[in-house]
Amino acid sequence: MNEFFATDRLRAIYPKVKAFLEEEIFPDETEWSQMPFHEVEPILRAKKDQVKATGAWNPYLAEEEGGAGLNLMEVAQLGELLGKTPFGHFTFNAQAPDAGNIELLLKYASDDMREQFLHPLLEGEIRSCFSMTEPEHAGSNPVNMSTTAIRDGEEYIISGHKWFTSSADGSAFAIVMAITNPDEPNPYKRASMIIVPTDHEGFELVRNIPIMGHAGTGWHSHAEVRYHEVRVPVSNRIGPEGGGFLLAQERLGPGRIHHCMRWMGICERAFDLMCRRAATREISDGVYLGEKQMIQAFIAESRAEIDAARLMVLHAAQVMQTHGQKAASMQISTIKFYAARVLQRVVDRAIQVHGALGVTDDSILSFFYREERGARIYDGPDEAHKASLARKVLKEYGLKVKNN
Ligand SMILES: Cc1cc2nc3c(=O)[nH]c(=O)nc-3n(C[C@H](O)[C@H](O)[C@H](O)COP(=O)(O)OP(=O)(O)OC[C@H]3O[C@@H](n4cnc5c(N)ncnc54)[C@H](O)[C@@H]3O)c2cc1C
Repeated sequence: MNEFFATDRLRAIYPKVKAFLEEEIFPDETEWSQMPFHEVEPILRAKKDQVKATGAWNPYLAEEEGGAGLNLMEVAQLGELLGKTPFGHFTFNAQAPDAGNIELLLKYASDDMREQFLHPLLEGEIRSCFSMTEPEHAGSNPVNMSTTAIRDGEEYIISGHKWFTSSADGSAFAIVMAITNPDEPNPYKRASMIIVPTDHEGFELVRNIPIMGHAGTGWHSHAEVRYHEVRVPVSNRIGPEGGGFLLAQERLGPGRIHHCMRWMGICERAFDLMCRRAATREISDGVYLGEKQMIQAFIAESRAEIDAARLMVLHAAQVMQTHGQKAASMQISTIKFYAARVLQRVVDRAIQVHGALGVTDDSILSFFYREERGARIYDGPDEAHKASLARKVLKEYGLKVKNN
């Protein structure tokens, strides 16, 4: 915890969460990272009472929703702590994509939806996924999509092909982006978000897509999914018809802060492992790795980059918390590509310092390296965020960039 940004609420919770992670998660995480996730899930869920005792279950929820009532800056800092292990967010019910879906449902769900979908999610009894990207279209410009939801009386009939529907395996429902208003002139008003329970006829989980050799299972997987004329009631639509992209933007804003702070946690973890190794690995008689200037440069550069990235992320969180998501759009684009690059560099250096051990599954570093390469792609690839940032900067100089 950074004393500069600490609050009384955070000081009360943080040490309890830290102790829990150190005692209950860190010792087993390497073993768990090599097990199918559906076997790890019951182990983590069995710790729910201990997690609740820390006061940080569902850490981003308001007090009236049964949460700790933390603001975005506080949640971000807790998110860094949870990010130090691949199992931190899941154990505290703060994992993507559920956290984003929960935030969406809290704001837009009808009473029926709350009962059926939101409450079991809040209790960690079920999981969910978010199904927007399609293999046939550029996901970085998602207005181009083929999935349709055609109205038939009081039902929608959903047909389409999605991929990278993270955590679909074992999810109780998917929030699907589908075209409901194809004739709407504004392409950003053509799609809606609709809840599709995965046990409905026509939902097909085609496969968990292997990521660098690991297909994963359960929460820890990314699925290809087909919707074959799946029928759901119109009341399963979240928000207004045609409001899908507006909701997607709302979902992504705080989500990017959550991801970036989770990455800071990974960076700190990798940094700690790198320094421990550098301080104890004897490279020749009485000479340790950390005495080599090239390794010292890894350490110094990593320290500086992590500290800079964290301040940038907290600044974005502070702007969003104070002035709202729209006002923070430049900061969000900046941190999304900057923090993702820092993450990649720091984990890479930590692996290098570990030598062969670093690329094995005996070290959690290889897990981070493999699983987090996607950080530079999901929630907007680096290039899209750089283009968006530059466009906004140039606008201030009178240049209106028409096409990115
Ligand atoms: C680990 C992971 C998890 C994911 N989880 C989900 C999920 O749960 N649900 C879901 O719906 N989707 C998910 N996605 C999909 C993700 O949202 C898309 O991959 C992302 O939007 C990019 O789309 P694309 O892969 O089609 O790449 P494309 O849009 O084809 O882009 C390819 C490349 O083109 C370049 N590019 C793109 N735009 C620009 C630009 N404006 N200027 C210059 N270059 C550009 C970038 O280098 C980019 O990487 C996930 C992806 C990953 C990797």
